[in-house]
Amino acid sequence: MPPLTDRQAPISIVGAGVFGVSSAIHLATRGFRNITLFDRQPYHETHYDFDQGCDAASADCNKIIRAAYGNEVWYQNLTFDAIDIWESWNRSLAEGTVRPPGLTEKDRIYVNCGNYHFGDESNGLNDFEKASVNNITRAGRGHTQYLLSDNPNEVARAQADGRHYAIDPFHLSENGQHHGYLDTIGGFVYADKACRYALHRATELGVKTVLDRQAGSVEEFIHDHQGNVIGIQMANGERHQAAVTIIACGGWTPTLVPEIDGLCETTAGSIAMIQIPEGSPLRQRFSPYRFPVFQWNVRGGENGNLYGFPLDDRGVMKIGYRGTKYTNPQQASDGRVRSVPITKWTSPSITGLPKTSTQVIERFLDQYLPELKEDGINISQTRLCWYTDSYDNDWVIDGIPDKSGVVIATGGSGHAFKFLPLLGQFVADKVMGIESEMLHRFRWRKLQDGEWARNQLMKGFDDVHALQRMQLIDGHQTVASSKL
Ligand SMILES: Cc1cc2nc3c(=O)[nH]c(=O)nc-3n(C[C@H](O)[C@H](O)[C@H](O)COP(=O)(O)OP(=O)(O)OC[C@H]3O[C@@H](n4cnc5c(N)ncnc54)[C@H](O)[C@@H]3O)c2cc1C
Repeated sequence: MPPLTDRQAPISIVGAGVFGVSSAIHLATRGFRNITLFDRQPYHETHYDFDQGCDAASADCNKIIRAAYGNEVWYQNLTFDAIDIWESWNRSLAEGTVRPPGLTEKDRIYVNCGNYHFGDESNGLNDFEKASVNNITRAGRGHTQYLLSDNPNEVARAQADGRHYAIDPFHLSENGQHHGYLDTIGGFVYADKACRYALHRATELGVKTVLDRQAGSVEEFIHDHQGNVIGIQMANGERHQAAVTIIACGGWTPTLVPEIDGLCETTAGSIAMIQIPEGSPLRQRFSPYRFPVFQWNVRGGENGNLYGFPLDDRGVMKIGYRGTKYTNPQQASDGRVRSVPITKWTSPSITGLPKTSTQVIERFLDQYLPELKEDGINISQTRLCWYTDSYDNDWVIDGIPDKSGVVIATGGSGHAFKFLPLLGQFVADKVMGIESEMLHRFRWRKLQDGEWARNQLMKGFDDVHALQRMQLIDGHQTVASSKL
């Protein structure tokens, strides 16, 4: 695609999740003056609230911020940069220099409560965690890492550094012996507030928005005679021509851009939410200033990869599980089989989580947070959260081969939210024809013969984790999978 130099040229961005809204901010900051951000979700009214019909991955209560990235030091270092911006967003809210509708100077977006890692089999670090600690140390930030297991000096250091609340959040220590490892870089962001802030920043910078279930919903591309993209056709029949159309549609991207099959696939992670009643002492115990983000059995396969957060503003603890990812393969109109998002907002029969997710989460709660059940507190809500996995976990920010006029920004692979403040810089570079090592990493690519794929994609109806094969469990209610 030729670089776009005309700052007045129309640019359409489809999708106001983190990829789209960040692209809008960065393109506007680079001087582009005719940008329109489309989404079929009326986010200016629903405020990215998952209880208000929002089903995007970005529309959530909170997301983890971590620099622990094993040997993927490029993401580690990018997290350091992103945290600087998250902190500046906090400052601008506190100082009142940026005031998104509905947020006040008391609101914070980023909370640096740290990440507590632990497992139930090994007391030490697994290979991923060891690599993370080594690389963070090499980056000159070793003092932020506390290897607590059987190490009283580290426990004392964490206490002296004011991290007492995160040393033993699950009350596992016995006779002074502690477990786990504490990474005090990061913590979490309130995801809905972060998106509201970013959307507000984009509009302040002059980005136009069409956030509407019809007028903001893209049905298909408009092509020229050579097959290049010259615009989008909306659900209400309107057509918008643009010099560049950016597609940032998360889990819905493969439906609009089937060429991406094999590079990315739509998959779901599982979320359980636990409402702590007002007045319960657990509101204090799990508050973000007394409890860290936690990660249990990181890279532990089906029986691990569980994580959780301190309470959000509504008193809700979110637990996520990605030990098993699910697909929803459907026969597409182009004859191929493709996974597409299915949520309670589009299909009311979808309630609950697959049995494996429910079992792992409940086992974790029974073992590590028994006080919840003792107080009669159960999972109050569950949700499948859809996103695009690439086969190698790297994002995709590139044009479509042999097609001009379009840039794809997706492939978040379950870890892109933390980079909201920065994602758009790569999209803007792509639009402007600026090359970089990172952009090369995010290029349109194809799994080569013999290349190892971190994520096995496109198994279609044969996927053993296809939702059609799963029994969904919602508390005491079991939903027949045939309803899908
Ligand atoms: C369970 C789960 C937990 C996660 N946890 C973390 C975490 O802790 N930390 C982290 O950094 N990342 C995390 N992620 C990853 C992160 O949430 C995603 O990478 C990121 O939010 C993806 O953003 P997106 O902009 O690509 O897509 P989305 O947020 O899904 O946004 C896509 C947007 O496109 C719109 N859209 C789609 N189709 C159309 C259309 N045809 N017309 C108009 N609009 C359309 C949708 O309405 C939506 O608003 C998690 C993801 C999941 C699913």
